[in-house]
Amino acid sequence: MTVAMGRADTPLPADVDVAVIGGGIMGLGLAYHLAQLSRGKSPLSVAVIERSYLVSGASGRNGGGVRMQWGDAGNVRLMMESIELCKDLAQQLGINLWFRQGGYLFLARSEAGERRLERNVQLHGEVGAPTRLLTAAEAQAIVPQLDVAEVRLATFNPEDGVVFPWAFVWGYAAKAVERGVVLRTHTSVVRVEPLAQGYALHLHTGEVVRARRVVNATGAWSGALNRQLGIDLPNRPHRHEILSSEPLKPFLDPLVVDLSTGLYFSQSTRGELVTGISLPDAPDGSDESLTLHSSLRFLTHLSATLTRLMPITAAMKVLRQWVGPYDVSPDGDAIVGPSPGHPDFIQVCGFTGHGFMMAPAVGRLLARWLALGEAHPMLARWSPDRFAAGGVARREDMIIG
Ligand SMILES: Cc1cc2nc3c(=O)[nH]c(=O)nc-3n(C[C@H](O)[C@H](O)[C@H](O)COP(=O)(O)OP(=O)(O)OC[C@H]3O[C@@H](n4cnc5c(N)ncnc54)[C@H](O)[C@@H]3O)c2cc1C
Repeated sequence: MTVAMGRADTPLPADVDVAVIGGGIMGLGLAYHLAQLSRGKSPLSVAVIERSYLVSGASGRNGGGVRMQWGDAGNVRLMMESIELCKDLAQQLGINLWFRQGGYLFLARSEAGERRLERNVQLHGEVGAPTRLLTAAEAQAIVPQLDVAEVRLATFNPEDGVVFPWAFVWGYAAKAVERGVVLRTHTSVVRVEPLAQGYALHLHTGEVVRARRVVNATGAWSGALNRQLGIDLPNRPHRHEILSSEPLKPFLDPLVVDLSTGLYFSQSTRGELVTGISLPDAPDGSDESLTLHSSLRFLTHLSATLTRLMPITAAMKVLRQWVGPYDVSPDGDAIVGPSPGHPDFIQVCGFTGHGFMMAPAVGRLLARWLALGEAHPMLARWSPDRFAAGGVARREDMIIG
């Protein structure tokens, strides 16, 4: 294993400017951008501490979907930026990200879904995203294998697409390390102790790292660290299951989403159909949400839903099935910024089912805020303080799965 993949015996400094807990896409994307920004100037010292191997969390278990089709202008703009960043990222990171812009095809089978898509297309037009409305027949012209008998309306954005998540995480890790970030894997932060300035992180190895600022990038596990400091945030873990098929001849360009059931499927560059759906009554918020074993219930529910919409998949063989944790926030938006009562303990959590696609833009904007104090409208929107008054002001309704 190379140093860039992290090692359990990488020496950790006793003091750092920024300690990032969690080596998923959020932690590593942020570390990469921090290292990038402080090149040449007085560099910030940055350490990333990951409990397990890289890609062990949600960042190694997701569908790799990347889209600008959102229900809120801020999220659409952010994803336009993220997709723009994705275009050059393979070259910058020196690794093939398998980024393929085959589009996203959303299908509405209810009147409410139809209204949602109509509203989105108008919003996307105002923001400059090239999403267009399609009839059921036009949707079927893009994916001829679809049974569109119940489809009332569809939208298509040709710039949406898919990536290969593992390469993305490894690419950020390698470049961050090359630029001076210390990456330690297989090491848990077991206790966070507030100091007069900053925090002391106590590791399971007995080591202690002091940090002026700490970033909690532990996704679905973030609540455990927050509770140690009395930080009460409403994001909760939620099990999400997914599977991939045997390799099939390339036949599917877009990632397809059925709004009524939350079913989604795409074809990977290796030919596998990658598909997921949320179980209506999956454990949510409990410790059970973080148990990562697959269920037969998911397999039967997904098979019934998928074969109804794509009858040819009835003959398809399943190769792998797995689970990952969504880190669900009550309004569907991320939780990013200083924690209530702990301004130097920074959250970058609550990304539900869309953190992977947002990571390029989020890593950049959060690094610019940490290193340069630069504001961004999304940081105000995503502030952990927004839950203080109870309830939620608005809700992002284009959450899938
Ligand atoms: C099945 C599934 C499908 C998805 N599909 C998509 C998709 O198509 N597109 C998309 O954009 N998003 C998708 N997502 C969501 C996306 O994967 C996540 O939002 C994103 O990966 C979150 O990244 P993260 O770095 O915040 O969390 P993670 O990748 O979970 O990283 C957190 C890390 O923190 C570590 N950690 C936890 N506690 C400690 C500790 N005490 N000390 C040290 N380390 C610790 C964990 O080991 C973990 O590696 C999907 C998620 C799932 C589960």
